[in-house]
Amino acid sequence: MSPDVLAVAEHRRGDVREVSYELVTAGRELADATGGDLHVAVISGRIDEFTTRLDLEGVDRIHTVDHGEEFNHDVYTQVVCALADELDPQYVLAPNSVNGLDYAPAVANRLGLPLVTDAVGIEYDGGLTVTREMYGSKVETTVEVDAERAVATIRPGEWVTTEAIGDAEVTPFEFEVDESAVNSEVTGFEEVAGGDVDIADAEVLVSVGRGIEEEENIKLVERLADALGATLSSSRPIVDNGWLPKNRQVGQSGKVVTPKVYIAIGISGAVQHVAGMKGSETIVAVNNDPNAPIFDIADYGVVGDLFDVVPALIEQFE
Ligand SMILES: Cc1cc2nc3c(=O)[nH]c(=O)nc-3n(C[C@H](O)[C@H](O)[C@H](O)COP(=O)(O)OP(=O)(O)OC[C@H]3O[C@@H](n4cnc5c(N)ncnc54)[C@H](O)[C@@H]3O)c2cc1C
Repeated sequence: MSPDVLAVAEHRRGDVREVSYELVTAGRELADATGGDLHVAVISGRIDEFTTRLDLEGVDRIHTVDHGEEFNHDVYTQVVCALADELDPQYVLAPNSVNGLDYAPAVANRLGLPLVTDAVGIEYDGGLTVTREMYGSKVETTVEVDAERAVATIRPGEWVTTEAIGDAEVTPFEFEVDESAVNSEVTGFEEVAGGDVDIADAEVLVSVGRGIEEEENIKLVERLADALGATLSSSRPIVDNGWLPKNRQVGQSGKVVTPKVYIAIGISGAVQHVAGMKGSETIVAVNNDPNAPIFDIADYGVVGDLFDVVPALIEQFE
């Protein structure tokens, strides 16, 4: 067994997903601790472009497998297992995404390794300790992995990313996919309503909560988002009311977001909401209740009626 770490990059519809960059950070931290190299696997898609984008500081080697445009469960399982056989890494990291959760268990099973999912923190001190969250992020648990090697999936939005360009050795991985064992394929993508927007990619989010009172009033917050060139997101009650589509929901049962600026308007700051936005770089909260929990994590807070504050902000920014 080498002390190396193998991180499997993710892409969708021709683009590298943000979590791939987080895997580089998490993988580098882990490889620094184990004293090994960080390998990144780039499988399928626009291999050359993705490889260039993932050649970041801290990546030692990138292994590419050119196979089709989109993610495929069987191809990923075969390739990651074959790479693990060849490199014999101590740890394999994948995203805790729909795709990652699709192949990581199969990889762990085939390699006979334990699998830890949804890590929000990873530490190595002679052994792997993974931090996970339970009970709607109310409780943090640490899982000590009682094995020398393991597969882990990391939760998107928990690691900072780097843009510093690296100098990785890039090698096409000589591996013949066993086509007779490829039993699945991506036949198309169906966006959820309003699916043109991925709030997880937005740099500035203006998020609206139940304080907005009525569907009609959402237009006001939308105007603020427009004035700021921001994307509109929301807490869950807004989605449950059918005022915004599900893909705008931030939180435990919505999306995890890490924008540069998150502006929470009329949002109380319930743990399930905070679980989705606490990684934002700067948090601004507007709430008429000075004791609202959102102020505990806000960098800037305005205690006031949003129906006064938001028009004033719009005037400033327009
Ligand atoms: C299993 C589970 C999963 C969940 N997942 C999520 C999730 O993913 N995302 C999520 O958001 N929630 C989630 N929830 C719901 C969560 O517990 C809260 O109910 C929800 O986040 C509250 O939304 P809110 O802050 O918009 O509303 P409220 O808690 O009702 O807060 C509204 C806030 O607006 C303020 N306000 C009212 N009027 C004004 C005004 N005129 N001007 C300024 N401020 C005003 C109030 O002071 C209050 O703080 C989940 C719950 C469960 C049980």
